[in-house]
Amino acid sequence: MIVIMQADASKEQIGEVEGALQEWGYEIHPIYGVERTVIAAVGAPTQDEARVAEQVESLPSVERAVLILKPYRFASKEFRPEKSQVKVGDVVIGDNSFVMMAGPCTVESEEQLMTAARAVKAAGATVLRGGAYKPSTSPYSFQGMGEEGLKLLAQARAETGLPVITEVMHVGNIDLVCEYADILQIGTRNMQNYDLLIEIGKVKKPVMLKRGMSAKIEEWLQAAEYIIKGGNDAVMLCERGVRTSETYTRNTLDLSAVLAVRELSHLPVIIDPSQGTGRSSMVPAMCKAAAAVGADGVLVEVHPNPEKALKDGAQSITIPAFEKLMPELRAVVEAVGRYM
Ligand code: PEP
Ligand code: MN
Repeated sequence: MIVIMQADASKEQIGEVEGALQEWGYEIHPIYGVERTVIAAVGAPTQDEARVAEQVESLPSVERAVLILKPYRFASKEFRPEKSQVKVGDVVIGDNSFVMMAGPCTVESEEQLMTAARAVKAAGATVLRGGAYKPSTSPYSFQGMGEEGLKLLAQARAETGLPVITEVMHVGNIDLVCEYADILQIGTRNMQNYDLLIEIGKVKKPVMLKRGMSAKIEEWLQAAEYIIKGGNDAVMLCERGVRTSETYTRNTLDLSAVLAVRELSHLPVIIDPSQGTGRSSMVPAMCKAAAAVGADGVLVEVHPNPEKALKDGAQSITIPAFEKLMPELRAVVEAVGRYM
């Protein structure tokens, strides 16, 4: 159950409601917002929940008590009707801005990363992407530079000022990746790695949770729930394409997922047109489509020399293509009442 307090509820009144909820057998998770307090009451109450909700609503200073029948609570719109925002330094994800996260799929060398980082920064990107640990379908493909790659990302951040997003693949690596990353990426192959999600819930670092390549929206939101329930509410989602019968594109980029998440959740949504299409020719138009559909930003693979890329070259756009994209994308973003 979600209990929404009146805007003018006093500390004492909130405390009384919290105490009452605990007596009814709930575990409480209050969010003391600027405007009002919202209390998530989870667990099984000692009585019929609909009746309890009625009684809660009759307490002084309670505006509403809402029963949540969905399999996720903290990720739901009932829990937080307004969109949530994730802050990374000066960058806000989930407000009226449209965020450009760009950089190579994988950190390959100092020269490759620094060239890409300087170029995307100059063209207006506000977050630098780059994988140091790469989940690969083939055990023979490049697995990433590991900690060396993380160090290069830190060097690129120091020079450009761009915060860094990079993937954490397993529980044993969380502390190390946290030392270097500003946003932790959970890859599509790990969306249902519940041990990892539980541990990520314990860290205080923004997280971008990619949609599993065959995951339903509800499963994706439940995966986010693991992280938020654990105490980390700085979660954004990333749609990166799903498996369908189509093979011309690497995946089928589900732009309607943005709208579905908006109907069900308060979490920001990023679109990844690179994994989403697998084709660099399609990336710029899909970035514009992401802006038009109301996504909070995009994650784009940019490589100084895509033909020579050790990974995902076919879907990586060149630096000139990125420089051409940015003003075109800005025009679409502004046309839908947002800014970049
Ligand atoms: C990536 O961003 O390079 C990546 C591996 O993504 P995904 O987990 O979506 O395949
Ligand atoms: Mn990639």
